[in-house]
Amino acid sequence: MRKPFIAGNWKMNKTIGEACSLANELKRELADIDSCDIAICPPFTALSAVNDIISSSNIALGAQNLFWEKEGAFTGEISPAMIKDCGCKYVIIGHSERRKYFSESGEIINKKINAAIDNNLFPIICVGETLSQRENNETFSVIERQLKEAFENIAQQRLKDAIIAYEPVWAIGTGKTATPQTAQEVHEFIRQKIAQYYSADFAQQLRLLYGGSVKPDNISDLMKQKDIDGALVGGASLKASSFSEIVKRSI
Ligand code: PEP
Repeated sequence: MRKPFIAGNWKMNKTIGEACSLANELKRELADIDSCDIAICPPFTALSAVNDIISSSNIALGAQNLFWEKEGAFTGEISPAMIKDCGCKYVIIGHSERRKYFSESGEIINKKINAAIDNNLFPIICVGETLSQRENNETFSVIERQLKEAFENIAQQRLKDAIIAYEPVWAIGTGKTATPQTAQEVHEFIRQKIAQYYSADFAQQLRLLYGGSVKPDNISDLMKQKDIDGALVGGASLKASSFSEIVKRSI
């Protein structure tokens, strides 16, 4: 049985003060929830302050990115140990915005996944096709390529805490959610591929999140799908009311 998991990706939003207010509200609103794993991923600048608020709660902390090197002359980058030091349990890797705006390749994503695992961080690995790829019937080949690149030469036991998020790029921040059936089709495909690369048992244990304009009014139908185990939420995670409602309706 896979436990539902809802993660909020705050992206480049919230000052430290705003992040702390939101974290305090979420801590209050979600205090009773134990049948769903919950994580919030504030910007780097607010990680430590938010950790002070949620460290003794049922909400875990995640970062939105990391750099794969341990330390050194990499101006502007943040190491896995640094985010671990801020209290992070999770880290988002390969988000489509990073692939698009920062040219993150499959090779880079693979290095970041390895770096996360080496530092006992649970990677939330994002894959997803663009609108033109979907229209050209390339969805499955794109997802397969992204999975192969992400997991290249990574052994199954190293991935025991990994999570995959299917986020169709055309549904992110656009208000267009994939229908539950469309999302399920891709989730099922991802699980089949993981079974093929690793083992059927492992594929059954791995949690697969859907991401792309998830809101309180569409989460229940998404969660009814057999291979959807939770959601990575962008816009709707920026308000305590909508994020809490998504968590509550996911269980
Ligand atoms: C995301 O950025 O991971 C995301 C799913 O965003 P939104 O929910 O705003 O579509």
